[in-house]
Amino acid sequence: MSSTHAAAPTAPARGETKRGEVIVDQVSCDFSGTRVLHETDLTVEAGEFFTLLGPSGSGKTTLLRIIAGLIDFTSGRIAIDGADVTKLPTQQRDIGFVFQNYALFPHLTVAQNIAFGLKIRKVRGQQLIKRVDEILELTELGALKDRHPAQLSGGQQQRVALGRALAQRPRVLLLDEPLGALDRRLRQDLGSEIRRIQQESETTAIYVTHDQEEAYILSDRMGVMEAGYIRQVGAPREVYSAPNSGFVANFLGETN
Ligand code: ADP
Repeated sequence: MSSTHAAAPTAPARGETKRGEVIVDQVSCDFSGTRVLHETDLTVEAGEFFTLLGPSGSGKTTLLRIIAGLIDFTSGRIAIDGADVTKLPTQQRDIGFVFQNYALFPHLTVAQNIAFGLKIRKVRGQQLIKRVDEILELTELGALKDRHPAQLSGGQQQRVALGRALAQRPRVLLLDEPLGALDRRLRQDLGSEIRRIQQESETTAIYVTHDQEEAYILSDRMGVMEAGYIRQVGAPREVYSAPNSGFVANFLGETN
């Protein structure tokens, strides 16, 4: 198991430029006349593990889905690596998702589930086999590659979902409560594993949770949300040691 401490993103290898900087610029979102995000600004750095933390209903999922291109919003702009993607459909944003209930294909094996998105993108032959093998190794699922989802534990299924999301080398990985359905012990193990895989694949991650402990352990930085506002952004240690409001202090003090 790799370290879970919140290290700064590592330097790019061999002159590669790190990919996956996300800028949220003055984004507002209304549902049926009710504002659920208020002129939100946020910069997530390339290669960073960034957590959106906050109570239920604070706007975390809405913000994540706006970054994904899954929701029409009222005003503002989303940029990835300096390019405005506000009007780009999801498929053209070069992002991967892992959601709590984002089901695997039950009739396909682990390897076939991982290969699925690659095949759609016309990856074939040796190149397909090589990439699926790389992902099986990264997610440590090699021994389970011929099983079907029903033959896997919840944690193993989420590893397959993670592998499937990473197979196409997305610039940004969006995770919405991916561990929500699992028990506490498994959440800790799989959380550290997600962090290791994110670092090894050098993918920017934006992770939604209401669990303070998860945010503290996993994040390079986190943003604490309340009622459609990001109240504070910083490294977990900074936010915990110097909460900037009564809300942040109280929320971080709560136990799950
Ligand atoms: P969180 O992820 O922090 O739990 P959400 O982003 O899901 O919060 O929700 C933010 C607010 O927007 C909540 O008040 C929720 O009820 C509302 N909301 C979310 N999705 C919709 C929708 N499709 N239609 C109407 N209201 C919505």
